[in-house]
Amino acid sequence: MAIKHTPVKLAIVGGGAAGMFAACMAAEKRIPALLIERKARLGSKVLMTANGRCNFTKDISPEQFLSDIQYPCSSSSAEALSRFLAPSIRSFPPRKIISFFRSLNVPVRRMADGRMFPADGRAATIVHAFGDLLRNSETPIITNCPVTGIQAQKNGFIVATKNFTVWAENVLLATGGVSYPKLGSVGDGQKFARLLGHKLVPYRAGLIGLETLEPKVTRRAGHRFEDARARVFSSDDKLLYEYRGEVDFEAFGLSGAAIYNSQRFIEHAGLKDYTIEVWVEKERLRFSNLKSRPVKEAIVTIGGVALEEIDQQTMQSKKVSGLYFAGEVMDIDGPTGGYNLTMAFATAAKAVASIHRS
Ligand SMILES: Cc1cc2nc3c(=O)[nH]c(=O)nc-3n(C[C@H](O)[C@H](O)[C@H](O)COP(=O)(O)OP(=O)(O)OC[C@H]3O[C@@H](n4cnc5c(N)ncnc54)[C@H](O)[C@@H]3O)c2cc1C
Repeated sequence: MAIKHTPVKLAIVGGGAAGMFAACMAAEKRIPALLIERKARLGSKVLMTANGRCNFTKDISPEQFLSDIQYPCSSSSAEALSRFLAPSIRSFPPRKIISFFRSLNVPVRRMADGRMFPADGRAATIVHAFGDLLRNSETPIITNCPVTGIQAQKNGFIVATKNFTVWAENVLLATGGVSYPKLGSVGDGQKFARLLGHKLVPYRAGLIGLETLEPKVTRRAGHRFEDARARVFSSDDKLLYEYRGEVDFEAFGLSGAAIYNSQRFIEHAGLKDYTIEVWVEKERLRFSNLKSRPVKEAIVTIGGVALEEIDQQTMQSKKVSGLYFAGEVMDIDGPTGGYNLTMAFATAAKAVASIHRS
């Protein structure tokens, strides 16, 4: 007996930042979509962002945004990333993200540097706003349901779970990176993409602490320095990167925004031999070649589905027609400050707009 599959126009795999946003955009455009999430609730990682406060974007121009994500790495990977994201960020810039949340009656708060938060300082407000829109639009959502396989067919896909299959004309992979796997992102989307013929860029930790056993740090574990500075120098002592911001002393070493952004710079620039200088209060500490904490603890995953096999104008696979990508499942990452959620939202909006036109 032939198996009957429920048909949908769009199956969105992953109900995190990109998947929820994509489902909202699909509802707005009246695209029949189904959202399938592995965990029992939507947006588990979003709830954790910015210590539960959710820095959901940065109120800057698209050009500033694109320059910030590459500055000052100037590595081919950072430049390619900025080029790849340009169409998405220009068509769905931070200001549209802010308007989107305002239209959902989320009061927002702008910090002096442009970082945007829900005014009540609760990430749950953002997740509830998504939930309300999806409930009001009667978007079908299945939670607690990992997608286990995606099979390309003529003019569509069979999306399999343990208990049922769905036939989808288009599939949007929004399954995230591989950091914080307990929150649901375990690399499934990358595995599906690989089985469908895509190349993967190896995973590395992005925006993560650096390890040191220096007693001046470990003895003061738990101390937070808000007005601190981190600088990265080459092996011949040339200043390569500087970031003013928070530095935290931990039992394992160093963390905080200034360290995270320096670590991202070191990773993108491929530096093996460097010195990092940390200024806290009046003290200056210098370290060489520190090890990053593991990717599972990172704020973002560097690596994932290779960008050269995705059309930046549509987010559609160049290899498999009808297969789309959004968010961290791709090899995209940005600095701290709302850039990563912005990328998840903007690439999701781009993918759905393309599906709408198709
Ligand atoms: C502690 C922390 C703080 C952060 N703070 C910020 C911040 O303040 N601002 C900012 O811009 N960024 C922040 N980030 C980064 C940001 O959260 C991510 O970049 C963003 O969530 C990526 O969105 P995504 O939709 O691609 O992935 P996710 O939000 O991780 O969503 C992926 C979803 O897919 C689901 N999934 C995975 N596999 C399957 C499957 N097989 N079937 C069905 N569903 C599946 C997962 O369960 C998950 O819900 C933070 C990250 C962390 C870890």
